[in-house]
Amino acid sequence: MYDYDLLVVGSANADLVIGVERRPGAGETVLGSDLVTHPGGKGANQAVAAARLGARTALLARVGDDAHGRLLLDSQRAAGVDTVGVLVGGAPTGVALITVDPSGDNSIVVSPGANGRLTPEDVAAAGSLFHASRVVSAQLEIPLETVEEVVRSLAPDSRFVLNPSPPRRLPAEVLAACDPLIVNEHEAKVILGEGAAGVSDEPADWARLLLAKGPRSVVITLGAEGSLVASGEGVTRIAAVAVDAVDTTGAGDAFTAALAWRLGAGASLEEAAAYASRVGAAAVTRRGAQDSFPTAEEVGAL
Ligand code: ADP
Repeated sequence: MYDYDLLVVGSANADLVIGVERRPGAGETVLGSDLVTHPGGKGANQAVAAARLGARTALLARVGDDAHGRLLLDSQRAAGVDTVGVLVGGAPTGVALITVDPSGDNSIVVSPGANGRLTPEDVAAAGSLFHASRVVSAQLEIPLETVEEVVRSLAPDSRFVLNPSPPRRLPAEVLAACDPLIVNEHEAKVILGEGAAGVSDEPADWARLLLAKGPRSVVITLGAEGSLVASGEGVTRIAAVAVDAVDTTGAGDAFTAALAWRLGAGASLEEAAAYASRVGAAAVTRRGAQDSFPTAEEVGAL
């Protein structure tokens, strides 16, 4: 019997957002809107998304001993996430400084801060969380060595889900543990590296090439086009749910969290991706990241 349906190992950031008429050039100052501060970071987002759906969720992350760290801990707890694995101190909380111009385009500077200090030793010290979790998910906003230690720490019958974002080439040991590896089109191209040269525009072809790199299964998310799931049994297209999208921020995080949770509940990869599509679709109908994540009841009503 597992205590947690999902353990998320990943980043927690404060997103500091200011609207601007135009971005400053070097040496220039511009005035912007009032500052809006949101809890974010892919790890924190995934944990909130899963907990809101009803998954028993824990987060293993590091925040600073500062106001942003407290904001993140509060938002995790408010969503029902167990924060026993959230370590405090060592560096300031990770921050994303975001300016948004009138056309809606973002410019973002990220200071990884405490996320960069989540070490392999921190993971090794959290062994009891790994043994208590049916599914473990990670992203790449923490050091790659830390993700490698996550893979080594998995309980023998637990399942590992990786969204390699921001993307980089992955060691074979990490790829081999993924079931599934979840990528969007950009991430797929980076993971394939030179292997992407000369490949058709057909996502099913990328899925097969990614599978050949060693993961047990692959999911490619395609925004409003839905997703593709690929395993030894073949490639299946999962339709998107048609909605009026207002803000796609966090859709991938909500999709990944939902898929990981359903897999742990015994769903097939296709069933889990179909459910995750509904969660992703619900998330794009509302503004923000964590604020946009639906409850299971809202997914059911979609
Ligand atoms: P990422 O944010 O990582 O690039 P996507 O944009 O592909 O991820 O979104 C993840 C999933 O969310 C998609 O596979 C789809 O199921 C759902 N989704 C995203 N955008 C839309 C949309 N405009 N309409 C319906 N579903 C969407």
